[in-house]
Amino acid sequence: MRVLVLGGGGREHALCWALKKSKKLRKLYCIPGNGGISDFAEIPQGIDLKDFESLAQFCKAEGIDLVVPGPEEPLVRGVADYLQAKGVKVFGPSKKASQLEGSKAFAKELMKKAGVPTADFAVFDDPEKARAYVEKKGAPIVVKADGLCAGKGVFVCETLDEAYQAIEKIMEEKIFGEAGNQVVIEEKLTGEEASFIVITDGENFRVLPTSQDHKRLLDDDKGPNTGGMGAYSPAPLITPKLREVISEKVVAPILKALQKEGHPYFGFLYAGLMISQNTPYVLEFNCRLGDPEAQAILPRIENDLLDLMILTFEGKLVDTNLEESKNWAVCVVMASQGYPGSYEKGKLITGLDKVKDLPGVVVFHAGTKKEDGNFYTNGGRVLGVTALAETLDLALKRAYQACELIQFEGAHYRRDIGKKAFKYIKNG
Ligand code: AMP
Repeated sequence: MRVLVLGGGGREHALCWALKKSKKLRKLYCIPGNGGISDFAEIPQGIDLKDFESLAQFCKAEGIDLVVPGPEEPLVRGVADYLQAKGVKVFGPSKKASQLEGSKAFAKELMKKAGVPTADFAVFDDPEKARAYVEKKGAPIVVKADGLCAGKGVFVCETLDEAYQAIEKIMEEKIFGEAGNQVVIEEKLTGEEASFIVITDGENFRVLPTSQDHKRLLDDDKGPNTGGMGAYSPAPLITPKLREVISEKVVAPILKALQKEGHPYFGFLYAGLMISQNTPYVLEFNCRLGDPEAQAILPRIENDLLDLMILTFEGKLVDTNLEESKNWAVCVVMASQGYPGSYEKGKLITGLDKVKDLPGVVVFHAGTKKEDGNFYTNGGRVLGVTALAETLDLALKRAYQACELIQFEGAHYRRDIGKKAFKYIKNG
């Protein structure tokens, strides 16, 4: 098959890496790709991800059999509908089904209808009414912009003042534009977060390896929120029993509800969960794999990924087992100085050759570009240094050993990825 991956981050590198191993792959393309991806996939130039018509023309010209979108943006804007109408298969949900991520109000209302456990909430399009609700409920409270905000639209407010400011920024200053036409205001939950991702044909689903992201910039979950500074898999917080509960009480009913609404979901579905006293609550749904969770999850899937996607299209997921490796995986994100604020690009990355042959280590590129055989930084999150091993302890040793060998000016990374898991496991 000829496959086109959309996106250019670490998640897309991991997707390309997994697809490349498939016996069924004939040729791999990625738009816009990155330095690391360019080593083993063709990167067509001059095609804008936002321009669906050029994508369609490219697919036709190159005989693309399957498009795999990595990020949410094209999906929420309807890339699956557009390309499918032109006869190209897309491994991802329709525009309507992607509203699960594209509109928090839609997701919350649907969860309520379907009886999926989530924080109590109300939706407002009038800032006055939103303020009155906040005043009535009191702090702490969570204010969320309805639409896509590149992960920045959530304000967890400890005081009423913070909540009023959040409403003002989102609804009046419109810092996220149209995405702030509505807000969801919800109860603050406490507990530990985990990522629960499934692959689904809309009716049947298979649970991918569980994982935990590290959203804050600094060790011990301090500092500002980021796109994600690391991940590990599995997340032992999700016990086999809890996994069943989540499948039954979260995934099955939301898929059923979407089907009932006439918008069956297809692709990867990500539930961001808060586990509170062993009970799961949905914080958000995403319509794609997580980044950096994908970098820890995909290397632990032993099935041929492309085959798994084909079986999903063919309605055969129901007869397919997901084979999960017994190894642990850890992904440590190396970031540019200044990230998640402003940062410089174009710093030479050295040491990648030294880690190439380290056992169990694979480096996924995010913000990199390749020029004259050298790699340079080209984004905030630069590399996802991933390692696999029989124990979490060893996977961490391998990942951090590799991080020490890789250098670029201003590189920084968290030193405590995966630490949270140790309280659930005896022997690392
Ligand atoms: P979301 O994009 O909705 O997942 O929110 C981003 C982050 O905000 C989550 O990963 C949580 O850390 C935090 N968050 C969101 N909703 C809540 C909530 N109801 N209670 C506590 N924290 C929350």
